[in-house]
Amino acid sequence: MSSTNKGPLPHIVLLSCGGTIAALPSHGVDYKAGLLPPDRLLDAVPDIGSSVHVTVERHADVGSQDVDLEIWNSLAARVRRLNADPSVDGIVVTHGTDTLEETAFFLHLVTQLDKPVVLTGAMRPAHALSADGPANLQAAICLAKSPSAKAIGVAVVMNDVVYDAVELQKISANALEAFSSRNHGPLARMLGGNIAFNYTPSIADRWKGSFADLTLDAWPKVPILYIHAGMDTDWVDALLATDPDGIVVAGVGSGNAPSAVWRRLEAAAARGLLVVRSSRCATGFVDGGVEVDDEAYGFFAAGGLSPQKARILLMCALRRDNSPESLRALF
Ligand code: GLU
Repeated sequence: MSSTNKGPLPHIVLLSCGGTIAALPSHGVDYKAGLLPPDRLLDAVPDIGSSVHVTVERHADVGSQDVDLEIWNSLAARVRRLNADPSVDGIVVTHGTDTLEETAFFLHLVTQLDKPVVLTGAMRPAHALSADGPANLQAAICLAKSPSAKAIGVAVVMNDVVYDAVELQKISANALEAFSSRNHGPLARMLGGNIAFNYTPSIADRWKGSFADLTLDAWPKVPILYIHAGMDTDWVDALLATDPDGIVVAGVGSGNAPSAVWRRLEAAAARGLLVVRSSRCATGFVDGGVEVDDEAYGFFAAGGLSPQKARILLMCALRRDNSPESLRALF
């Protein structure tokens, strides 16, 4: 659905992807993501039409657990086209919260933007008492049309807090304040429609648009291996047998795993498999050479990236150049 721009008001395109923000009651479950028609999302934001013109497009109707590479490719392609469209001032994406951080980071890597792309969602469905979706959507539109956010790139706003795509992560399955910024604190806060930046987005700028030249088609196979105490190496062998292009280890602590697991992965790395060590912890960094001799094993350390984001970075990296030098520079 679309309509034309109206005169001098800023023009925002809203791409709706489903999620709890567009969820309604459904037979057999408390609610189902993506049932609310996208234009109805806007109906709940009072008086929005007086300050901004919003064009609404339905992009997908899924819970974000079902967001896949196909949706990522088409969404990134649409964002690239809208970024190049001079009639558009900013882009808002509504999305389920479960994989919001992954979609934000993917867009951060594969688009080179000169206008804001603001993602948002909701923890409470549209029919809930004090649903948070309308306020989140209002904040996202405010941010996307704000001249001070022009260079912000891909950002996420939830509960009046603005996160950058690199640091954002979901930390609560249920709480209204469900997100955090992994190591550096939130990028900004929304204060009644204004933006108060906490820091200049240099950390947020890392890898920004680094893969904007990639075609949006087939992506390498990069699974995440989740490490736990008493881990059985059979699972590692089973994963290696699927012939992945790379593996991200969601390690304990600073990216650690039982010695027997490392032995399997060391042998696989010697055969050319790319292995990236990250941490299953909610915050912190995985630096090369701490407890694990990455150089000797041929592993790479994920730094401050979560496993799910290290996976996306590795997927992009593998499309271009998988030499150890370029991977070391990237991670
Ligand atoms: N699993 C759903 C999703 O991510 C609901 C969670 C949400 O949107 O908050 O779309």
